[in-house]
Amino acid sequence: MTLRIGLILPDLLGTYGDSGNAVVLAHRARARGHDAQVLTVHYGEPIPDSLDIYALGGGEDVAQSLAAAHLLADGGLARAVERGAPVLAICAGLQVLGEWFTDAEGRRVQGCGLIDARTTPSGSRMIGELAVKPSSLLADWAVDDVLLGFENHGGRTELGPDAAPLGEVLSGWGNGAKDGATDGRLDGAIAGSVLGTYAHGPVLARNPQLADALLARALGVGVADLAPVEVELQQRLRAERAAAAKVKL
Ligand code: GLN
Repeated sequence: MTLRIGLILPDLLGTYGDSGNAVVLAHRARARGHDAQVLTVHYGEPIPDSLDIYALGGGEDVAQSLAAAHLLADGGLARAVERGAPVLAICAGLQVLGEWFTDAEGRRVQGCGLIDARTTPSGSRMIGELAVKPSSLLADWAVDDVLLGFENHGGRTELGPDAAPLGEVLSGWGNGAKDGATDGRLDGAIAGSVLGTYAHGPVLARNPQLADALLARALGVGVADLAPVEVELQQRLRAERAAAAKVKL
């Protein structure tokens, strides 16, 4: 099988190297002997609904409004999610897949409605290292390592009852908290086969377990069926990022 990875609108949603998530998925698939192809879908192009996995990155306020309008009008990603295709959405990608978000001019912009989430301006930017303890729901994806990344956003995301957070923030802001509260912060969202997080990095380079969880879903195999890849290198990289975030792995 050739794994077909959709890199969705990197011309709009591609900040902080997030397009690297598709590269990491392809690399880790090939390292296990699978063919892998990254299909880049640019703004204005139709989004195929038949791909095996989809990656959306972060973006600036104007860019993400354009992305939201295109995704909504096209409908291809929504059809893919309906059949259970795994989707990874980072920062603006997460916001765009929600019900709505507020743009730079304070207008409410309709999102794709694939995640029960709403995003409003927090009044200040949340920038720095992000570390997240995975929620117990991520155990279903065989992810229990602390997730590490870098965040830079002004939006604060609130989840509704049909979405669960990806995890609990150990360091950083994640989805943000009302009135800048410093405890009980959560990051990201899990909504069926859609995973969202505020972690750039790209997040899959920093968190190989998360990469393999998505890969296993896309390939239709168990995570345990994937042979270990570059374990020592990954551990060194993670230790470095954990030190930057001042968290213990
Ligand atoms: N424009 C969004 C915000 O500032 C998302 C930023 C990003 O993707 N890094 O909240």
